[in-house]
Amino acid sequence: MRRFLSVLRASSPAEARRALPLCRPYSLLQPQQEQQHDQTGDRPSFGIAFDIDGVILRGRTPIGGSPQALRSLYTDDGILKIPFLFLTNGGGVPESKRASELSRLLEVDISAPQVVQGHSPFKRLLSRFENELIVAVGKGEPAEVMSEYGFKKVLSMDEYASYFDEIDPLSQYKTWTVRQITDNNSNSKPRDPHPRFDAHRSKVQAAFIVSDPVDWGRDIQVLCDILRSGGLPGKENGNQPPLFFASDDLEYQAVFPSERLGMGAFRIALESIFNRINQNPLQYTSFGKPNPFVFQNAEAVLKQLRSNIFGMMLTENVREMEGSSFKTIYMIGDNPSVDIKGAKKAGRPWFSILTRTGVFRGKENHSEFPADLVVDTVEEAVDYILRREST
Ligand SMILES: [Mg+2]
Repeated sequence: MRRFLSVLRASSPAEARRALPLCRPYSLLQPQQEQQHDQTGDRPSFGIAFDIDGVILRGRTPIGGSPQALRSLYTDDGILKIPFLFLTNGGGVPESKRASELSRLLEVDISAPQVVQGHSPFKRLLSRFENELIVAVGKGEPAEVMSEYGFKKVLSMDEYASYFDEIDPLSQYKTWTVRQITDNNSNSKPRDPHPRFDAHRSKVQAAFIVSDPVDWGRDIQVLCDILRSGGLPGKENGNQPPLFFASDDLEYQAVFPSERLGMGAFRIALESIFNRINQNPLQYTSFGKPNPFVFQNAEAVLKQLRSNIFGMMLTENVREMEGSSFKTIYMIGDNPSVDIKGAKKAGRPWFSILTRTGVFRGKENHSEFPADLVVDTVEEAVDYILRREST
């Protein structure tokens, strides 16, 4: 496991070769005729992107034969043989942590680069906001996520709100308590006597909705304060700082039998209220599926993964391999308006597969966003892919 991970972190092909002597090109792992290859090398010409909620897991329980399906993408020795990643709009914890959790639940080795969450594209905004005060909103560890990406001055909404007395007039009626975090490295700890940033003087330069907000009322109130005032709650109106959402899912399938309101629902609530109380309409950017950017990014990650895993034993054309395209990338999802719409919009080489284990339960294909294939479970989807790619 450690060696596998070190390969994915290796900065050069040579380093990668040293790190993983066990890893062999796929052609050596499978009989030649069983696998479709492209013209330039010995690697599978396809990759797979799995949605998580409603496809792989419901809550924390594996569904649809997902552990078996994933195991078939590894050799008997547990070496990855098909490049795949998880492409989820969810999040709230750093990718490394999510990878460990998925490895445990699904009983296969999953590395951090194989986990692309809704907020993963936020790291691309690092050069803009690296040393600026930013606020991170949502369940889990939103500030820790942003700190891991390299942002230096990040406060969670819990911590930020705690600097302003009476900013939430309803807080006295809330019986829950903000989790006390003793870890000194965490940015989510409540107010300390010597605040790291002077929230009363430093303007918030951007707000990031990292994961589903927990306290909608407080968060909408404080975000309206930040956004209307130009970054200083309680002050005169100013220019709206940039606002970023990790995704825009209206609903998603969790443990409860019917769908739950997602980040898109929170966005609508915030936007509706903000536009009623502010002269200029809310400006924002949403990432996550079905944004085609997310699919292009996933393709780049899969290429990198493939060259890390399969390139190290090939002494030539490593660069060429990194750049060469996949013939097919399969998107396996449960939500037609997110997973299937996104894969369709991304176009070639994406091929969409819709499962019936989550949001979609229809007998036939979805009418508005029909998938290239509809199956009952993720296990059926992977069986289909491996059969199709071996002919
Ligand atoms: Mg889903």
